Amino acid sequence: MSKDKITLDRIQLLHPAVRNEVAAMYDQICNALTGFAICRFAYTLRTYKEQDDLFDLGRTKANPNGKTARRPLGSVVTNARGGQSYHNFGLAFDIVLLKDEKGNGKFNKASWETNVDFDGDGRADWLEVVTIAKQFGWEWGGDWRFTDMPHFQKTFGKSVVELDRQIKAGQVIKGTRYPIL
Ligand SMILES: [Zn+2]
Repeated sequence: MSKDKITLDRIQLLHPAVRNEVAAMYDQICNALTGFAICRFAYTLRTYKEQDDLFDLGRTKANPNGKTARRPLGSVVTNARGGQSYHNFGLAFDIVLLKDEKGNGKFNKASWETNVDFDGDGRADWLEVVTIAKQFGWEWGGDWRFTDMPHFQKTFGKSVVELDRQIKAGQVIKGTRYPIL
């Protein structure tokens, strides 16, 4: 069904080794979701700086979300600093569903509902995306002990420590910040 232009642009920020397969995967996802929701990639690549900024939220910088009396700076968003997430190497993406709430063809309401079958095919849309991503060999954060339902990554057998070391040693694809895999 509908392809999301923002997602197509974000796919181009992924590591060159996965770009084409993720584009093909996204095609399949778009074909699979035929109802009131489409899939957007909320995040793909995050630079070290962007990751550090995200880490600071709820710690040293205010996050408007999740403010309480006990937590005046709002919710903590991530435990990973720059270089500690597969996003920093273009090897991860996070999904969100966009719903056409008013039935007017505009998919503009974000949804993290993992159990809703928006297209009436007997399977929750979120899990349809999971199935397709796994077929392409991606690991899903929903399978972890501390679940991260929107998150998918492909590690190529390398830890973030290894990949970070490579970046710092300049073992990157020429002219880029992507580690050689
Ligand atoms: Zn993620």
